[in-house]
Amino acid sequence: MASEIMTVLGPVPVQHMGITLMHEHLFIDLCRVTRDPDHWLNDFNLTIKELSPFSAGGGRTLVDVTNRDLGRNPLGLCNVARTTGLNIVMGCGWYREPYYQPEIYEKTTDQVARDIITEIEKGVGDTGVRPGIIGEIGCDRSYISPVEERSFRASARAHKHTGLTISTHVVRCTAGLDQLDILQDEGVDLRRVIIGHCDTYLDPNYHDAIAKRGAYVEFDCIRSKFDWEIESRAQWVMLLIEKGYLRQILLSHDCCMKPHLHAYGGNGYDYVLRDFVPRLLAKGLSEEQIHVLLVENPAAALTGVRS
Ligand SMILES: [Zn+2]
Repeated sequence: MASEIMTVLGPVPVQHMGITLMHEHLFIDLCRVTRDPDHWLNDFNLTIKELSPFSAGGGRTLVDVTNRDLGRNPLGLCNVARTTGLNIVMGCGWYREPYYQPEIYEKTTDQVARDIITEIEKGVGDTGVRPGIIGEIGCDRSYISPVEERSFRASARAHKHTGLTISTHVVRCTAGLDQLDILQDEGVDLRRVIIGHCDTYLDPNYHDAIAKRGAYVEFDCIRSKFDWEIESRAQWVMLLIEKGYLRQILLSHDCCMKPHLHAYGGNGYDYVLRDFVPRLLAKGLSEEQIHVLLVENPAAALTGVRS
């Protein structure tokens, strides 16, 4: 397991990952809950076009953390992988409570875990397409609801059975630390956990607290049109590196809505490579450190092997 990652087209040697985005969405239906048609990505040709500047900039791998009941499209992802040549890694598990189907309330935690394990081992439904990461699993509010806790415990058990990394969703609050508590209580090694959307909480002490516990701090909303928002993210990256956490930082855009795409005026899947990396270099990061952030950390995060 450690030397390979599972992509939608099958296992790939970890050294083929290259520059990797760890938290994106190619097909996603948030609109089912939000009722906003902007919150729906489902256009194959547009997806291919939007990915082209990422590939042209050197991108090789993209992790699509769309999971069940969120518009996940395993066969669509296979077509994207074949058409673009990118490695695509697919997610699994339960997103957050407003998106849950009733079945999670009716099953035991172990049954929910078994379902996740079946997907990981046999593929989604009858597609045969296997997830390569558990996530994004999250909490909708600033606390983890009882049924979301069930999702976290089930994901932890599926992780322990399959070895897949866990990637979470939590915004504008410190509940990422509560997520770590539950996963730790289930016996998960927190070095196998990615806390998502850390850059939506503006206090660097939160980033620090996550890193201290061994988990990955994911700055995955690097997509704003406002310079100060991008600049603050660059500063948080520098702060964490100064504190010695270079190898626990992950960068991504979380493109999940039409306005995030170039076609609708957004910064697209290539913004980190196009704008953010030059900013970090200008602040004094070396090319080697950039390589750690974009290549070595994603490889370590997916396989669990840290250098
Ligand atoms: Zn999310």
